[in-house]
Amino acid sequence: MKTRREFIKKASAGALLGSGLLASCTKKGAGGPAVHTGQTLKWKLCTTWPKNFPALGTGANFLAEQIQSLSGGRIEVSVYGDGELVPALGVFDAVSRGTAELGHAAAYYWKGKHEATQFFAAVPFGLNAQEMNAWLHFGGGLGLWDELYASFNLKPFPAGNTGTQMGGWFRKEIRSVGDFKGLKMRIPGLGGEVLRELGATVVTLPGGEIFQSLQSGAIDATEWIGPYNDLAFGLHKAATNYYWPGWQEPGATLEAFVNRQAYESLPSDLKAVVAAACQATNMRILSEFTARNNEALQTLIHKHNVKLKRFSDPILKALGQASNSIVSSIAAKDAFSKRVFASFDKFRKQSIAWGEVAEGGIGQARALVF
Ligand code: CA
Repeated sequence: MKTRREFIKKASAGALLGSGLLASCTKKGAGGPAVHTGQTLKWKLCTTWPKNFPALGTGANFLAEQIQSLSGGRIEVSVYGDGELVPALGVFDAVSRGTAELGHAAAYYWKGKHEATQFFAAVPFGLNAQEMNAWLHFGGGLGLWDELYASFNLKPFPAGNTGTQMGGWFRKEIRSVGDFKGLKMRIPGLGGEVLRELGATVVTLPGGEIFQSLQSGAIDATEWIGPYNDLAFGLHKAATNYYWPGWQEPGATLEAFVNRQAYESLPSDLKAVVAAACQATNMRILSEFTARNNEALQTLIHKHNVKLKRFSDPILKALGQASNSIVSSIAAKDAFSKRVFASFDKFRKQSIAWGEVAEGGIGQARALVF
């Protein structure tokens, strides 16, 4: 029998993915936590966020509290912020190998493990928060996500959403698509790949370095999340042009993932507790972002004289076309990514048709009156 260490080493290599995903990963008895026998389980939850970071870190705290209270104290959860147990980008491996039982993160951080992870977080010109929830729960998304993460010894759940983000802070106005040429911008993930295609110099900086880099002119622009978190970072003090919409992250899904053995060893009621706690967190974080963004946007405009600007139609069209070509080419790299993209793309087409008459329709109607 393979040892757990050998098994995890193999699973972490990521090379296993593709057409044949590992069914054996969920095998029990490979040295995972003991089957629940009535004792209190002590779980570690490690996150990619700084401890207590607004909406994200506090959202992870909420997830821990929910698991603890819904389980009647049968699962105790300790929360570890970025760097406290492992560094932010070590969370995936830590939970996969069982150093912690639970992680809270965003799936696009793990694109180095597999390109398809990005579809479960945010895709440029992709799905908004409610559409992501709909795709995951009713469009086949969650099944694909589960299949992907099983090969890394993890059980995934959607557990939060930032809602539609902002396009970012720019020291100079963006009047045409040519203005992206040579622009030095902090923008991670697929959005960064798209801007690179349009001639920008793309940099990735951790959150803590963004403000100073923008203020000193080391970078010309940055995106972060939305008004609530951007205001907290003081980004309005470093640049005044605040662009919308956040084409790069229309509804970034946050995730919780559980070590597969830890999850499988739970009795069915505690499995349901974990799922319910993640669902509650999913709703809570999105609601918090929506409420706080509303307030923070007004503060930015009226108190800090931020210039709110919309990317022009020709710019959005160019960004959309580049996004389509980048995302399609990434999806064509392997058989599993192809399956995920096919499912996602089909759902996006339907979402566009329904969204136009639903949220889009009511948005236009409200604008006529209010
Ligand atoms: Ca962002």
